[in-house]
Amino acid sequence: MRAVCWNGKTDMRVETVPDPEILNARDAIVKITSTAICGSDLHLYNGFMPSLKKGDILGHEFMGEVVELGREVKNLKVGDRVVVPFTIACGQCFFCKKDLWSLCDNSNPNAWMAEKLMGHSPSGLFGYTHMMGGYAGGQAEYARVPFADVGPLKIPDGIEDEKVLFLSDIFPTGYFGAENCDIEPGDTVAVWGCGPVGQFAIQSAWMLGAGRVIAIDRFPERLLLAQTWGRAEVIDYEEVDSVLDVLKDMTGGLGPDRCIDAVGMEAHGITLDARYDKVKQTARLATDRPHVLREAIMACRKGGTVSIVGVYGGLLDKVPMGAAMNKGLTFKMGQTHMHRYMKPLLEKILNGEIDPSRVITHRLGIDEAPWGYKTFRDKEDDCIKVVLKPDFDGHGHHHPHHGGNGAEYVA
Ligand code: NAD
Ligand code: ZN
Repeated sequence: MRAVCWNGKTDMRVETVPDPEILNARDAIVKITSTAICGSDLHLYNGFMPSLKKGDILGHEFMGEVVELGREVKNLKVGDRVVVPFTIACGQCFFCKKDLWSLCDNSNPNAWMAEKLMGHSPSGLFGYTHMMGGYAGGQAEYARVPFADVGPLKIPDGIEDEKVLFLSDIFPTGYFGAENCDIEPGDTVAVWGCGPVGQFAIQSAWMLGAGRVIAIDRFPERLLLAQTWGRAEVIDYEEVDSVLDVLKDMTGGLGPDRCIDAVGMEAHGITLDARYDKVKQTARLATDRPHVLREAIMACRKGGTVSIVGVYGGLLDKVPMGAAMNKGLTFKMGQTHMHRYMKPLLEKILNGEIDPSRVITHRLGIDEAPWGYKTFRDKEDDCIKVVLKPDFDGHGHHHPHHGGNGAEYVA
């Protein structure tokens, strides 16, 4: 089969590799019809996550058709259409029973590696390093799905891939980020990052009762989508002297009640601390650039919540824990407990409450994946979200603009 393989920092290649096979009785093989590139893949692409090997197949956002089943998978049939969650979970351990699916204790065969770094290991993840299980990912024609009796969500016929594909990660992740805020009716929610995850955090903040949403980024097309689709007030952080001052002014001095970090370890910035992060990370003296987390802590109103869905990898420098402690902030974070959200969020899609395909700007064949990675990483060509279609035979890039007519966000 054809698959998107990591061959070193920023070196993605589409290679012909052996088809996956059933290894365990609870496995399924899925023929992939749609898959996507995630901001989390960029941390791998840019070489910031340890324990990738040359030839590893990436991708953790995918859906398709079941073509083969292990003998213990009774709830699926060959031919079923499924979306697969990016976190792999057994459904039977202490953590799965507590609804903490991304912390499954049975799905990471390389748990010892993660234990060294973090004390304990989170669940296995598709296409996301050997430390997270070494599972082949879903940017390919086929994937092996372990614990297929627990994870994959059946999708009814008649609804197109693009509307449901993001149940594999970013819609639940945005929802998880907003839910973790414990929004009270009317709260002001600030979202750092208007990438796909930030967009779904914005959508979800409204669903959960926000009175106001403020979104922060620097790319016009992303701010525009946050403003039009997301009905958010927006801040271009490159156009203001201080995001903190602007947020204070907008909230009568209080600060946003709830702050969501939808950026993570590769935050960009123009402030002194952000430049310092960049130098340290480039010199390999630091794993992460926590500029956004610092800003969220400093901005958050006293007694508010900082919810972190942007991924961090290691030890974070100069995080103002003193401010967090003395302001009485609550922190919530994690890889999304996917299995908790997939069904209820599918309902919201089916009843027309949300159309997740709004974030898609690029639809590519799998052979164009290396171009897709670079374009998405550099936010070129107004790229917001790339979907790869293994059976796509068209050529050229299809990218409708949002808001239409070259509209721009209003500052
Ligand atoms: P993305 O790269 O498309 O979006 C990140 C956005 O952050 C970009 O638009 C960028 O301009 C913006 N940004 C950078 N620096 C900023 C700053 N200083 N202030 C405000 N905005 C800034 O990525 P994405 O797909 O939206 O993913 C976002 C994050 O969520 C990544 O870290 C990804 O790993 C993480 N993620 C987490 C989970 C989870 O389960 N917790 C799941 C999926 C993705
Ligand atoms: Zn993802």
